[in-house]
Amino acid sequence: MTAKISMKSTPYTRFQATLEDVFQKIELGAPERKLLSEPQAIHRETITIKRDDGKKAEFPAFRVQFNNARGPYKGGIRYHPDADLDEVKALAALMAIKTAVVGIPFGGSKGGVQCDPKELSKREVQEISRAYVRAFGKHLGADIDCPAPDVNTNADIMAWMRDEYEKITHSYAPAMITGKPLAYGGSLGRDTATARGGFFILQELTDRDALDPSELRVAIQGFGNAGAHMAQLLHGAGYTVVAVSDSQGGIYSPEGIDPVRIEKYKHKTGSVAGEYCKGSVCDIDRMKMDGVRKISNEELLELPCDILIPAALDNVITGANAKRIRAKLILEIANGPTTPEADVILAKKRVKVIPDVLANAGGVTVSYFEWVQGRSGEQWTAERVDQDLKRVMLAAFREVRRTAYREKMTHREAAFAVGLRRIMEAMKVRGWI
Ligand code: NAD
Repeated sequence: MTAKISMKSTPYTRFQATLEDVFQKIELGAPERKLLSEPQAIHRETITIKRDDGKKAEFPAFRVQFNNARGPYKGGIRYHPDADLDEVKALAALMAIKTAVVGIPFGGSKGGVQCDPKELSKREVQEISRAYVRAFGKHLGADIDCPAPDVNTNADIMAWMRDEYEKITHSYAPAMITGKPLAYGGSLGRDTATARGGFFILQELTDRDALDPSELRVAIQGFGNAGAHMAQLLHGAGYTVVAVSDSQGGIYSPEGIDPVRIEKYKHKTGSVAGEYCKGSVCDIDRMKMDGVRKISNEELLELPCDILIPAALDNVITGANAKRIRAKLILEIANGPTTPEADVILAKKRVKVIPDVLANAGGVTVSYFEWVQGRSGEQWTAERVDQDLKRVMLAAFREVRRTAYREKMTHREAAFAVGLRRIMEAMKVRGWI
């Protein structure tokens, strides 16, 4: 594989580098390349709210609709100080590939509001969320573009958004948004879906090679919705979780750590490192006793382990640190954690990378189940959600693995190839190309 190194690396240039690489391998013509390289629509607005102190505040807001050849646009909304058009475009593009890789009838989109939710009150976050729907409502809808949560957005926000949408459209619209609370049209299993989807893939890999999970050491960066659930699932299945981290830093123990205990402690103290070095009963003596030490997020990536799971930020495994990665397998739960330069180095080192567009697709898959439930008025059981998620994830993984093997590609290239071909097929039958 090759990586086109651009002058200034941004989320979108990194997406395009992978796209170009795969375009060459699957020999696409210029018209198809053009259609698959740029979003179909970019919407941007400035959201104005009244802060609690009575002053007005403005926030740039975006909705990028990348491709809807296979069905309504689908993609989360991110609240973050760095959420800009470039990032939202890259995330929208990844969504289009992701929905195609898992074969659910959606396209790809993404939204963002450039704000720091940590500096906003709950009332202000609600104001922003309702204003977002008023600003972009005419571009949203169950059959048009269906949002969901992403970084710093949650079920409460989805409920406010649905409520605002129903008010302005005078309609009943449970399928216009997913990731809602159970009491207001949510699906069982949505909160754990991303982690479970990745977990099914890991289990398949482990079973196929008849590996003993307890001998597999796992390091996980990020202890939020996706990372914490993943740590608990793996621990429960007997894997040895040797390291976890959050934005404050991480902890490492070669003997393994108990993520359930950490989750409980984190709720009390607010950080993972707090488990062993903060709080009244947790001091340095206890840290020594447990053989646990504090580490930085950078150190976590380079630990001696078998499986590395980035589950926090993008752009963390780069040309600068990829050669020092010691894991044999990387499962990308975060979106865009590995740069194209790092991909080249990892491929040479024969590190297997299960890419974001496959590894974290469990979230959007259960969002699809929620959309189906919203349209039909049914409530599926947790067992049904889990069974169907497993079926979808394993079918996608097997297709990607077959493509990688047959066409001598990395798993990322193969996942892009599978996704792009499916989008192209839909564009062809619709007469777009
Ligand atoms: P979250 O906000 O619940 O958790 C993010 C975690 O990352 C937190 O533990 C936070 O402390 C940590 N973090 C923040 N800054 C960090 C830093 N500098 N270094 C290390 N850790 C840091 O978010 P989430 O929903 O768990 O999403 C995490 C990643 O997974 C994102 O890239 C997101 O796009 C991706 N993802 C999530 C889902 C989902 O359903 N939750 C689905 C697909 C992809």
